[in-house]
Amino acid sequence: MNRRVATGLATKPNRLPAWAYLDGEFLPYAEARFGLLTHALHYGTGLFAGIRAYWNEDEGQLFVFRPDDHFRRFRDSARLLRMDLDESVEELTGAVIGLLRREGYEQDTYIRPLAFYGDESLGVRLHDLTPRVGIAALPTEFIDRKDGVHACFSSWTRVSDNSIPPRGKIAGSYVNSSLAKTDAVLAGFDEALMLNDAGHVCEGSVENLFIVRRGEILTPPITDDVLEGITRSTLMELAAQLGHKVVERSIDRTEVYLADEAFFCGTGVQLTSITRVDHRLIGGGVTGPITAKIRDLYFDVVRGRSARHRAWCSPVFEKARGGVDRSTAAASAKVG
Ligand code: PMP
Repeated sequence: MNRRVATGLATKPNRLPAWAYLDGEFLPYAEARFGLLTHALHYGTGLFAGIRAYWNEDEGQLFVFRPDDHFRRFRDSARLLRMDLDESVEELTGAVIGLLRREGYEQDTYIRPLAFYGDESLGVRLHDLTPRVGIAALPTEFIDRKDGVHACFSSWTRVSDNSIPPRGKIAGSYVNSSLAKTDAVLAGFDEALMLNDAGHVCEGSVENLFIVRRGEILTPPITDDVLEGITRSTLMELAAQLGHKVVERSIDRTEVYLADEAFFCGTGVQLTSITRVDHRLIGGGVTGPITAKIRDLYFDVVRGRSARHRAWCSPVFEKARGGVDRSTAAASAKVG
């Protein structure tokens, strides 16, 4: 039985990249091809990252956001799969910069690094296999869901540390996210919220969760089976800098229903307000003031507009685009 359900929500890039990075070299994207028996294709034995670069029009510069932190997690995820990667954090960051320079994107961009067991060899295992590392990047449209999303609690349980460790970004575990996401979308919701084995709230299909209740900002601890999100740690720092108390602790499902505000965060969704859960309004059913304040600061920070947070933004181009070097601060910002 193959019933194709048209959701209208599939995201297909309307172009493919010109370039790819693969195992230490840059090559045309079309030449990065893999065989049908590739191990990771059968068993999900890979891991990935999702990084964004933001175009700053005033400075004529593209800034990659926290690439070193993404690649630290990338290498940790590899270690979970017993993978020894040759490339250091610095080399991987350099590869992203090199790739983006070749592509020459002067717009917001999404970067997808991937490490996987590339042997054309069958047999379920993590030993006697060879890792490969690739990176591709595509321009992205900025979709701002200012009106917020409607989430539901999924009937699928989140993978756990003792099944497929969710603290890493392991390819195979995204079947779990995909089951939850598609069932949520087909049921008319925008996104799924998942519970862990213990019944605590953990995260969305590809995003971490924060709620605001009685003036406190709460987020589940990493030990409740959530990804060690870079956006999550960014927002925890920004919220504290804005004077808010952020508490990491287990969250019950009904605390989400009773929250005054709630939001998802992640490199892909950035910061997206949750205004309804399971047909219940969160707070007044509109984006709350604390969410809005953190979101506004976040978007300034990622685009390199906050001097205090400039070290998180790695400039791609040696000289500002547009003829003149419009950047004063870029020179002092870190190049990975
Ligand atoms: N949780 C999951 C399951 C994810 O896939 C993502 C996206 N990487 C996140 C949380 C958010 O992580 P980050 O902020 O590092 O993108």
